[in-house]
Amino acid sequence: MKSRKTKKKLIAVSMAAAILLPLQLATVHAASPSTTAKNEAMLVKIHLKNRADLDKLLSYGMDLSENLDQHAGQGMEADAILTKEEMEILQLRGYKTDVISTQHEIQTLRQERQFTVQQEKDLAAAKDKVTILRANYFTSQGGKFLYVEAKTDAGSLNSTVLTATWDKGKNTAPGSGGTAALERIEDADVYMYHSMLLSVDTRPSTVNITSSLGGTMEAKVTDWIGGKKPTPGKHYVSDFTDHYMTPTELDQRITKLAKQFSSIAEIVELPYETNGYRRKAQTMIGDQANPASAVVITSKKWGHEGGNSISLQAVKQEGANLPLSIDTKENAIVVKLATDAAGQSSSKAKDVIQKVNAEAGSLVTATSFRGSSGEGLVASTEKLKLTDGLKAPESISREPHTMKAIRIGKHRDGSKAGVLLYSQEHAREWVTPLVSVETAERLLRNYSTDKATRKLVNNLDIFIVPSVNPDGATYSFYDYNWQRKNMANHCGPEKSDPALRNTWGVDLNRNHGTGSVYDGYLGSSTDCQSSVYGGPSEQSEPEAKNLIWLADENPNVKFAMNVHSYGGYFMWPPGAYKALGRETLPRPTAGQEAFFWSASERILQQIKEYRGTTILPGRTGPVPDVLYSAAGNSADALWYNNGIYAWDFEVGADLWNAQERKWEPVGFQPPFEEGHEEAMEFANGLIGMLDVAYDYEHDKKAPTSKLHVKRSMENATLEFSTSEPATIYYTTNNKRPTFSSKKIKISGIREGAEKPVLEQTATVKWFAVDASGNIENHYKPEGKKDNYRSETVKVK
Ligand SMILES: [Zn+2]
Repeated sequence: MKSRKTKKKLIAVSMAAAILLPLQLATVHAASPSTTAKNEAMLVKIHLKNRADLDKLLSYGMDLSENLDQHAGQGMEADAILTKEEMEILQLRGYKTDVISTQHEIQTLRQERQFTVQQEKDLAAAKDKVTILRANYFTSQGGKFLYVEAKTDAGSLNSTVLTATWDKGKNTAPGSGGTAALERIEDADVYMYHSMLLSVDTRPSTVNITSSLGGTMEAKVTDWIGGKKPTPGKHYVSDFTDHYMTPTELDQRITKLAKQFSSIAEIVELPYETNGYRRKAQTMIGDQANPASAVVITSKKWGHEGGNSISLQAVKQEGANLPLSIDTKENAIVVKLATDAAGQSSSKAKDVIQKVNAEAGSLVTATSFRGSSGEGLVASTEKLKLTDGLKAPESISREPHTMKAIRIGKHRDGSKAGVLLYSQEHAREWVTPLVSVETAERLLRNYSTDKATRKLVNNLDIFIVPSVNPDGATYSFYDYNWQRKNMANHCGPEKSDPALRNTWGVDLNRNHGTGSVYDGYLGSSTDCQSSVYGGPSEQSEPEAKNLIWLADENPNVKFAMNVHSYGGYFMWPPGAYKALGRETLPRPTAGQEAFFWSASERILQQIKEYRGTTILPGRTGPVPDVLYSAAGNSADALWYNNGIYAWDFEVGADLWNAQERKWEPVGFQPPFEEGHEEAMEFANGLIGMLDVAYDYEHDKKAPTSKLHVKRSMENATLEFSTSEPATIYYTTNNKRPTFSSKKIKISGIREGAEKPVLEQTATVKWFAVDASGNIENHYKPEGKKDNYRSETVKVK
C-alpha cells in the first residue's frame, strides 16, 4: 500500500462579511471551466458562528454532509462539498473553512482501490504461462512412445500440476488418446521442467497441456529420430566383434589393424605411462575386528617385482621378559614378540610397527590399522604371504602401460578436420571399447570398396582411443568387475589396508581441469575412496593427461565423443554446475546449441537404423539438463579449452519390454549378445558423427540471418533466425559488431534462443557465424569493411 497523506489546508479569512455577494452556486460550477483547480470539488469544513449562519448556508443550497458538529455555545462546524471557487466566495463572506479532502486525493484513493481489486482478480484467475518445450512421437524396439516436456512459469511451486491430454491421431477428438500428469523435474533445488514418457498405441497428432493454475498450451506432435534410413553402400561389411576385449587384446587388435592398413592408419603412442596393472603386496597381522592390535604390512616393491615373495610371521617366544626382535632371512620376516614376567606375549602393535620399519624397512612398511593408536597386543600368526592380490594371468603385463590410439585417415598431417573417439574412462564399461574398435574396423575394411567410407577416411583425421583406463579395465576383467576408477592409489596409510583395495583410484572423468571439484563444481569428490574421486589435483593422472595431450597436439581436432555406458544418453557441455543456484559452466550460444541438436539428430538416426533403438529425447541434451553434474569431466575440458564439439554417449539404452510395457536397464556388463548389439548400433552412431565432421569440414557456405521485430507500446522484441545453426553477435549501441559483442544465448533450460528487448529506438548491428566459422556476408569483425547486417528498430 502506498502511504497517503491527508492534507488539510486552513484558509484563513481575514475579511469581515461586509459585502453580501449573491451566491449562485450553479452558475459558479459552470462559469469557470477554464481552471480545473477552481472547478475541483472538495470536502470542506465550514466554521459557523451560530445556527443563523447554518441557515444561511442551507439557503444557498449547499451540499452539506450529515456531519454537523455543534460546540455548545462555541459555534459549530458543517462539512460541505465545495468547489475551490465556492469556497473562496464563502471565505469572502467571512466564513472560515478547512479543506478535509480534495478530489485529487480521492482520485488517488480510487486508484489504490482499483489496484487492489485488480490484484485480487488476478490472483483469483492466476493463470500461469505454460510452454511446451517438446512433444515427440517415436518408436523404439517395437514400442510406440509419446514424450512431452513442458514448463510453467509457476513451476517453482510444487502445487502446480501439469496435465497432458492427447488425441489418437489426425481428425480424432481432442483428448481421445489419453490423459496423464507430467512429472515435475527438480535438480539441486531448482525447477527445470515437467516431463512425461508413455507408451501409446497410435501416434497422437496434438497434445494439450493444462496447468492446475489455468495456463494451457497446445502443440503438434513431431517425430523424434524419424524414418529416413541412410542408403547403405553396395558393399559394406561390419560386425567384427565376438567377445568382450581386455586392454591387452584391444592393443593387439589396433596394432594389427594399423600394420595391415598402414597407408591409412598408424598407432600413436601417448606420452604419459599409466600406473600399470600392479600393486604393492600386502598382508595384515590381526584383523579389522580388533583395530588396535592390527598391523598392516605393505611391500616396498610392487607385487610382481618381489613384493609377492615376501612373507611375515609373528611368533610367541618361550620364556619371560624377552625383548621384541626381528629375524629376516631372504624375504621371510619373523617378528619375535616380546614376553612379560609371566611369559605372555606383550608386544603392542605400535611397538611391532616401529621394530619392523626399523629392521625390515628395506622390504616392507608397517602401519597401524586405519589410524588406530596401536595400543593393542599383537597375537602370533601363521606364516603370512604378502600378495598384490592381482588375479590376471602372468601373460597380462604388470608394467606401466603405454596407452595407444589408432589414427585413421588418408592425410594424417593435421590438414583435415580431426575427430577424437575415446572410450572406457570407466573401467567396468565393457561395451564401450567394442564400439570404438568396431568403428575402426569398419573404416579400414570398407575403405577400398565403399565410397562413403572412403570419403570419410580421405577427408578426416580420426583418432580412436579404445581404452582410456587400461589398468582399471584389466582389474575389472580379472579382479573386481565393478571397478570404475584407475589403479592409482592416492589414499594415505590410514585407508590403504588390503580390505580397501577396491575403493582406490581416480575417476578419470572427474580428473580434468575445467569445472572441477577443486573449482567448486558438483558431482566429484576429494575423498580418495569416493567413486567419483577427482584425484589429488586437477589433471593428476597420466590417463587424463594423455587425452588432453592428443587434443593439444592436434589442434585440427574439432569433434570428440566420450563413450560411456549405460542408459542410452547423448549429451554435450556444459557438464557441471555449482550447487549454489545450480550455476552451470557457461552454456554454448543458441547457435552452438542448435548445432549440437542438429548433429545429434543425424547421429541418433544412424543408431536407430541398426535395431530400432531410439535415444530418448529426454536423454538428449546438455549433461546437467538430462543427467547430473559431473565436475571435472573430459568433454568439458575439450569444449572449453580446445573448442572441440565434445559429446558424451552412454551406450546401452534401456530395453523395451513390450509384454510388460516397461523399460529394462542393460547394466555395465550385459550378456555378450546384448553387448554386441550395443557395439553395432553405437558404432553406427560414431560413423554418423564422422558424417557430421565431414560436412563441417566441407561447409564453405556462409550463413544468412533475418531479424524479426515484434513491437509493443513500450518496446520492441528482437528475434533472429538463421539459414543454418549459427551464432549471432550483435550490438545496439551503434558499435561495430565483433566476437566480443553480445551473442544470442539460450533463454533457459531446454528452451530456444533468447529474444532481446529494446526499450528505445536503436540500430541493431549484427552478423551470424556457423559452426565451421563461416561468417555472414564474409564480414570480417576485426577488419575495416562495414558489411555487417544493420537495421534501425524504432521504439515509441
Ligand atoms: Zn562412465
